Amino acid sequence: EILSTRISPFQQVNIIDTYDFGRCLVLDGVMQTTELDGYIYNEMISHVPLVTHPNPKKVLIIGGGDCGVANELTKYPELREIDMVEIDEVVVEECVAKLSKISGKAPQDNRVNFHFTDGVEFVKDKKGLYDIAIVDSSDPIGPAEVLFSEEFYIDLKNSLKNDGIMVCQSQSPIFNKDILSRTYHILKRHFPIVKTYKAVVPSYPGGMWSFTLASLTYDPINANLGKLVTNTSYINPEIFQASFSLPNFMSGDLGIL
Ligand code: SAM
Repeated sequence: EILSTRISPFQQVNIIDTYDFGRCLVLDGVMQTTELDGYIYNEMISHVPLVTHPNPKKVLIIGGGDCGVANELTKYPELREIDMVEIDEVVVEECVAKLSKISGKAPQDNRVNFHFTDGVEFVKDKKGLYDIAIVDSSDPIGPAEVLFSEEFYIDLKNSLKNDGIMVCQSQSPIFNKDILSRTYHILKRHFPIVKTYKAVVPSYPGGMWSFTLASLTYDPINANLGKLVTNTSYINPEIFQASFSLPNFMSGDLGIL
């Protein structure tokens, strides 16, 4: 059932209800997040950098209009500010109204500041501000294409404090090898520590999904896993560690590891 259709200045925004996946956000016909498995993606892109950084206070989210990432971050009382920069206000309006299972407590948490603007423009004049930046973008077509460019990653690095961490979703290791490989190698040119990790998200093409973390100081291998909150449905200390074990083809064909 199509629950709503809105045409924003950036894209077509649909909320649909399905038998197998429950309610879903669809942008320009592409599935973005679902009630069935959205938590897997949202937990993995949020908790891994949060736990890797020993003392994060200020976090930037680029994209993330479904508010699922912001909701995961609200589980950490030590965070003081969460700046969420989403180009399309309509996505947030629709998800807060109809996908509250995913947006959760984020809209009510006064540490979450919504900025409705282009993430690329937003980061340009931000220098040394953030402990962590999370790029929760849609596919690299349309408004999100620029979020995969080297210029943007350089600006994002400059927006971090000198021990900052950034993480992005780096697409399917099966179907988007070129994007994952390009992302990894661009980040390698600008950060001393770059690690790709994976999770299974059934509603995304191929199921297996990749994330790439780039860090100026802290290595996820040395993370204090005791910091990981326990009110999660997917990530736990064992999953955190196992997610960095990659199949042979990712180190071979992609040159990652
Ligand atoms: N978790 C999902 C996934 O990986 O497919 C989707 C994440 S979220 C819905 C992606 C968001 O990025 C969308 O709401 C989109 O409007 C936003 N977005 C795309 N380009 C952007 C840009 N240049 N600046 C800020 N937000 C952007």
